[in-house]
Amino acid sequence: MSASDRRISSDRPQVDRTIWIDGALVPWADATLHLLSHSVQRGSLVFDYMSVHPTARGPAVFRLPEHLARFRISADLVGLVLPLDDAGLRGAVCAAVRANPGAKAVKISAYLPSIEVDVVPLDPTVRVAVAAYDPWADIIATKAVQPERRTEYRVWLEKQRRNRRPDIIEPQAKVAANYVSPMMAKARARERGYDEILLVDADGNLAEGPTTNLFTVDAEGTLHTPTAGQVLHGVTRRSVMELCKHDGRPFREETVTPEALFAAAEVFLTGTTANVLPVVSIDDRPVGDGTPGPVTRALRHRFHAVTHGEDPAFAHWLTYVDEA
Ligand code: PMP
Repeated sequence: MSASDRRISSDRPQVDRTIWIDGALVPWADATLHLLSHSVQRGSLVFDYMSVHPTARGPAVFRLPEHLARFRISADLVGLVLPLDDAGLRGAVCAAVRANPGAKAVKISAYLPSIEVDVVPLDPTVRVAVAAYDPWADIIATKAVQPERRTEYRVWLEKQRRNRRPDIIEPQAKVAANYVSPMMAKARARERGYDEILLVDADGNLAEGPTTNLFTVDAEGTLHTPTAGQVLHGVTRRSVMELCKHDGRPFREETVTPEALFAAAEVFLTGTTANVLPVVSIDDRPVGDGTPGPVTRALRHRFHAVTHGEDPAFAHWLTYVDEA
């Protein structure tokens, strides 16, 4: 085998799963896209990412309608016309999860497979694909090195770039191109030994992490999170706010300045992968006493129970794919 053959085969790992593409279940290794396609060359692929949980009633997707609504918003913002209605998208996700037992996550993508020259494609045909898999077993474990699984983060506050800029690409669009600037920012934080970076908006106020939303808790126990205009509308963010409302815990969507961040009693990040993740230091300054605080720990526990179908009040947040 030549070096180039080896490189190509390692780009296509042998994972025993199928990916739903335009109605067909395609073997994992065959779910490829041309190098010159518009979505590869211009970053125009939009996606959404949701969690799957084992329950007594079979696998369940957490807040599927909300994720699909956001997926449609991403597509609309970028100008991709989805070829499926809501029922079609829902059916595709359920079919992909049913075909891939043990899947823990679903990534749904919409992209322009056409090989193009200009930034505006001559062929605007959009393809939809749904992958249901186990991120750790199917992807991370296949790499030569694995990251440590951290349960609390030491973060760095972005100082070089104000890269959450609604006037360039709305932060509400989960489009591939929107992740390049955060990739560079997070890599800089990683080089300095931090777990994560906090991105700022055009005014230098807090926005979010590259794949998480941000919450602070003040000394009175009130939660604060940057306003919806500055951030991706995280499903976990929304769920945390709805749980707070249900439980009578005060919260506010408002501007979070760097000063307010450093003064916070607790700070945590939310996301489909992160769940509710405590931040224990920012720029090496401890948050509170430098350990996860009581509000963060309570919400983490509560969110875990809800996603696993253990709270009847929020059972409607799960879609049971075997019954859908
Ligand atoms: N912000 C960004 C930019 C993200 O990519 C994500 C991950 N989807 C989040 C926040 C968290 O959103 P969610 O809770 O829906 O996973």
